[in-house]
Amino acid sequence: MSLNDQTETFLRSPALWVLTVSLLFAAHAVQANGPLLEFVEVAPGIYLHLGKHEEMSVDNLGDIANIGFIVGTESVAVIDPGGSPQVGAAMRDAIRDLTGLPVSHVILTHIHPDHIFGGSAFADVEFIVAHRNFARALAQRGDYYREGYSALFVDENMPTSLQPTLEVADELRIDLGGRGLIVRAHRTAHTDNDLSVFDSASRTLWASDLMFAQRIPSLDGSLTGWLKAMDELASLQAVLVIPGHGQPGSWATVAEPQQHYLNLLLRETRELIARNVRLSDAVDRVAAEESKNWILFASHHRGNVTRAYTELEWE
Ligand SMILES: [Zn+2]
Repeated sequence: MSLNDQTETFLRSPALWVLTVSLLFAAHAVQANGPLLEFVEVAPGIYLHLGKHEEMSVDNLGDIANIGFIVGTESVAVIDPGGSPQVGAAMRDAIRDLTGLPVSHVILTHIHPDHIFGGSAFADVEFIVAHRNFARALAQRGDYYREGYSALFVDENMPTSLQPTLEVADELRIDLGGRGLIVRAHRTAHTDNDLSVFDSASRTLWASDLMFAQRIPSLDGSLTGWLKAMDELASLQAVLVIPGHGQPGSWATVAEPQQHYLNLLLRETRELIARNVRLSDAVDRVAAEESKNWILFASHHRGNVTRAYTELEWE
């Protein structure tokens, strides 16, 4: 999918035209060892690569998640090394192409393979930042993920993920030189190991998979927890929100459609549980009208209802 296709929805909002046009002109294409990775400077010093709205595959090399990096005056922080060693290597080349500054931090926003499988390209980096629950999740799921996507690893000695060297229990402040980042560890939401990153200077919130835009959110943690995490993030009053999938934009364009979907999932699942409707019937009834609003709805929505039902039936 081209940048133009992806920005189509975005362009329907005239207020965001100026931002969009500046993004297009700032596009910085990089051909490296792996696939073509295009990084766009979405705010000063903040570079974003938009993943494709597809499932992980050998064809797309796992390039399905939004990944990027933030440049200070002294060093660079990577936010997710991407979905395969090839993507990670291409990202490393892109950074090298753009700045001579060293990469001081790799922030692993959560355990999902599309965000972390590119870690081997950053094995020399000192600070590998992750949620305090990340290492446990990696121990539980790493082999399973690796087996499922083994074709993405051309070298069997490549690690599934970098191991965290800096765990975040609550909040971590990172100084890249003239640029302060606040990394927050959230309670269980999208997963039980979600981090968000806030750039104070530009008021940019890198929400990663705490936000999905255009692509259906996928629930792998707690529905009620996710809604609470969104309320906490709203209080930051970010000017720009970068989701883990889909186009960046304002809080209204990125977060509100997801809040609507998650609230509907919560309300309608609760109603069906109260009426003793079985899970097997609920999966086709809850929030069914949302199918027109989301890419890959058929692949993930029933799983979301299942997860919500399992959580809410014990309330
Ligand atoms: Zn995820």
